[in-house]
Amino acid sequence: MDKASGSGIDLDATALGSANPAQQTHVAALAAIVGADNVLTGVADRYAYSRDRLPFALYQLRAQQLPATLPCAVALPGTAEEVASVLRYARANGIRVIPFGAGSGVLGGTIPLVQELMIDLKRLNRLVEVNPTDATATVQAGMNGWQFEDALRAQGYTAGHLPQSITMSTVGGWAACRGAGQASSRYGKIEDIVVGLKAILPDGQSLEVRPLSRRAVGPSIKDILVGSEGVLGIITELTLRIWKLPEYSSAAVMAFPSIEQGFDACREIMQAELRPEVVRLYDQAESAQRTSGMEAFNDRPILCILKFSGKKALAEVERTLALEICAKHGAVLTTDGPYHHWEETRFNSYSTQWQTDGYFMDTIEVTGNWSKLPQMYEQIHRAVHAIHPEIHFGAHWSHVYPEGACQYMTVRLPPMELEQALALHRKAWETVEGLCLDLGGSIAHHHGAGLFRGPWMRRELNAGLGIIQILKDGLDPDNLVNPGKLGLRQPAGSTWKE
Ligand SMILES: Cc1cc2nc3c(=O)[nH]c(=O)nc-3n(C[C@H](O)[C@H](O)[C@H](O)COP(=O)(O)OP(=O)(O)OC[C@H]3O[C@@H](n4cnc5c(N)ncnc54)[C@H](O)[C@@H]3O)c2cc1C
Repeated sequence: MDKASGSGIDLDATALGSANPAQQTHVAALAAIVGADNVLTGVADRYAYSRDRLPFALYQLRAQQLPATLPCAVALPGTAEEVASVLRYARANGIRVIPFGAGSGVLGGTIPLVQELMIDLKRLNRLVEVNPTDATATVQAGMNGWQFEDALRAQGYTAGHLPQSITMSTVGGWAACRGAGQASSRYGKIEDIVVGLKAILPDGQSLEVRPLSRRAVGPSIKDILVGSEGVLGIITELTLRIWKLPEYSSAAVMAFPSIEQGFDACREIMQAELRPEVVRLYDQAESAQRTSGMEAFNDRPILCILKFSGKKALAEVERTLALEICAKHGAVLTTDGPYHHWEETRFNSYSTQWQTDGYFMDTIEVTGNWSKLPQMYEQIHRAVHAIHPEIHFGAHWSHVYPEGACQYMTVRLPPMELEQALALHRKAWETVEGLCLDLGGSIAHHHGAGLFRGPWMRRELNAGLGIIQILKDGLDPDNLVNPGKLGLRQPAGSTWKE
């Protein structure tokens, strides 16, 4: 047993609201830090924080099972100082904690394994400063993603980070998970956009990485926190690059004869130093869903949506050059319908209806290099189809780079008995992640590792996982801050079962 398991807040159904004097002391202490209204101990509140959007957890909830435990309580600090005080109190009392943004993560990063205290950051929700000279914006970590982008747009700027989940996630959550937005081919992933941050380490110490374009003072401390998924501390403030809103944009919808020709065109566009705002190449299954009745796709069944934006003169040239590249690879320009449909629905979640109807739907995103992507798609496609006669598999590539791209896959099993579905679902993940690693890819492009990708982290990072564990042990020797995530050591008493 490690230290916290015996001395943390007890969690039976009555938890912190109970008559247990030790628990009442903890509640009173937390209330003294964040205010009584900002400590939640009711069972309904704790249920709401018992999972994120990990589909595996949703399947269990649908079957009236908890993925692991309820949290013991929820604290909502309103300042970075309050975050530090909560962490100091938690360390002094062996209470395990989990930073919580908006719970839109899909890998179980905020699932409480041993009745942790949730630290919800939504009260840290202010746009602190827009600096037009440096082209940066400073924002508190708990600010809702869309409210942040909207506030920038009101001043004529964009951060260029537009994930599908923008309305249901926080800026801190984007950074903690190393996320990607739909305009990543132009503006980069969040690790390219964040230039500085403030965080509170597990012992309550403040850390600041001043927002500077570049530095040469050893390994990047910023990048130790970006992608750390709450295991090394709590990010309280971020400074992001911003850009003037584009004065012009123009989309193009292309029909390609084959995926391979689509890959070649996307690769050449990125290697020609063009900067499309949007590139979305779909496999045949996903293309068919979006192009029904369009003649151009009869003999060219692969859809690719491109969008160029920025200064008009430059964007027009980029579009012309990109279309030449597409034509060289057998594509024709078609009408804009699929682009407008995507634009109108780009921030919608498609999984909810399937989940409600009893299906077992999940998405898995990996990264591959261009030299391996055709095989990666082909092999994964074939192997997933072999798992179950009625399994649905579809893929698209919407984050593209000079070296390779993200392969984003949807896997869906029909309604069936829970135990059978969980085993098949597990097999689909093993198939996808295993083949991806066999072909030299990365098991995750932007959803993070959370809890669910733990089993593949050793193969993904090899000795690198040991480096992260050493950092974790040094900063958090009692394994109190989001324990058991990122493939790191599980806390004693963890009830998580895959
Ligand atoms: C429908 C849907 C679409 C999605 N589309 C995208 C997409 O296009 N691109 C993309 O990148 N992701 C996408 N996601 C995944 C998810 O939205 C992102 O991972 C998002 O960045 C998580 O943000 P959050 O604020 O909800 O974090 P949470 O889910 O609350 O937390 C995620 C992890 O980060 C940690 N964390 C959160 N805030 C902090 C902080 N301030 N300091 C330290 N650790 C913290 C948590 O402990 C947890 O480990 C999608 C999810 C859904 C459900």
